[in-house]
Amino acid sequence: MSNPFPRAEKPRCDLVECRACPRLVAWREAQAAVVPRRFRAWVEAHGFWGRPVPAFGDPDPWLAIVGLAPAAQGANRTGRMFTGDRSGDFLFAALHRAGLASAPRSEVRGDGLRLAGVLITAPVRCAPPANRPLAEEVENCSGYLRADLAGCRSLRVVLALGGFAHAAIERLAREAGKAEGIGRFRHGAEWCLGAGAWLVDCYHVSQQNTFTGRLTPAMFDAVLARCIALRAAG
Ligand code: SF4
Repeated sequence: MSNPFPRAEKPRCDLVECRACPRLVAWREAQAAVVPRRFRAWVEAHGFWGRPVPAFGDPDPWLAIVGLAPAAQGANRTGRMFTGDRSGDFLFAALHRAGLASAPRSEVRGDGLRLAGVLITAPVRCAPPANRPLAEEVENCSGYLRADLAGCRSLRVVLALGGFAHAAIERLAREAGKAEGIGRFRHGAEWCLGAGAWLVDCYHVSQQNTFTGRLTPAMFDAVLARCIALRAAG
């Protein structure tokens, strides 16, 4: 068994210094001026990140969870994936129930939260307006996701949160010649990437899905259980 994503070239610059997408640079920075009242004390205490958001988690993960992009007042505010918003509340609580996170909440960098065997990353690292990055922005950012996945020596399962993440993983798998078994995004689907590695689809943990019951904690727990089972199956 081996990581299906081949070694990748180092991206053109350090992620947190990247300014390759002018529209997203302007948007991510502008969010500091429109912090909602409920986060103002938090920002006074910790500062506003407003830069690209790095992957977060175990340096040697078997599971990579791939989202979409930082939320304007979530990871873009806190500087850590899924930290400080309702999507993160749902995700980290589930990871904790599954024994994959040391705590059920994630509100600030430097809180000591640890993930066990899990890396959280995204195809786009700067908050986009309306959560909709442009095609050229996705392309600009692809090297960071490619490098994240290529660096996961023990990678066995990629969990795509939503169709956008599924498409990003499919593109990278195609580059690697491993996309033959991948079909259209479907919640709960499992796609073989070869050599004992899998792509698993799940609805995104966004409020639009979790507040409407489209994705429930029980459904997400079941998806995580399948990821764990796929790893155990070898
Ligand atoms: S989205 Fe990615 S490529 Fe574009 S500025 Fe942010 S980090 Fe750079």
